[in-house]
Amino acid sequence: MSQPKRTPQATPSGHTRLACRKRTKAGAPCQAAARPSGYCWRHDPALREKRKAAERNGGRTRAYTGGERVEVKTLEDVRLQLCKVLGALWAMDNTIARARAIVAVCAELRGTLVVGDLEARLSRLEAILEASGGATP
Ligand SMILES: [Zn+2]
Repeated sequence: MSQPKRTPQATPSGHTRLACRKRTKAGAPCQAAARPSGYCWRHDPALREKRKAAERNGGRTRAYTGGERVEVKTLEDVRLQLCKVLGALWAMDNTIARARAIVAVCAELRGTLVVGDLEARLSRLEAILEASGGATP
């Protein structure tokens, strides 16, 4: 059986990559990016056992397996938890999903900072109002 012609594909970054050597059941070339072996992760014969193990695992290796119980009662608690998540994200491989998660966490952190600033300003205003003998809620 002859191997299908491998055609370079442009990636979003402008680099080219080779497509997988494997043909689909319908006979079309697999469009996934090839690894150094010339096959994608799904079709690389050398990775057969790894794939089977991953299927058996069913994602269990990525499942949350415990940790400290976290109480989130204040804005500062929220901010600290978001910072922990951000730190964990920075340690991960740089992928589009990671970048999106970092952006989402940063947006939430920004929200906590804005709300925290507003709370502080409101407290100062209430203190001024109370000192001047005005009514406070
Ligand atoms: Zn493939």
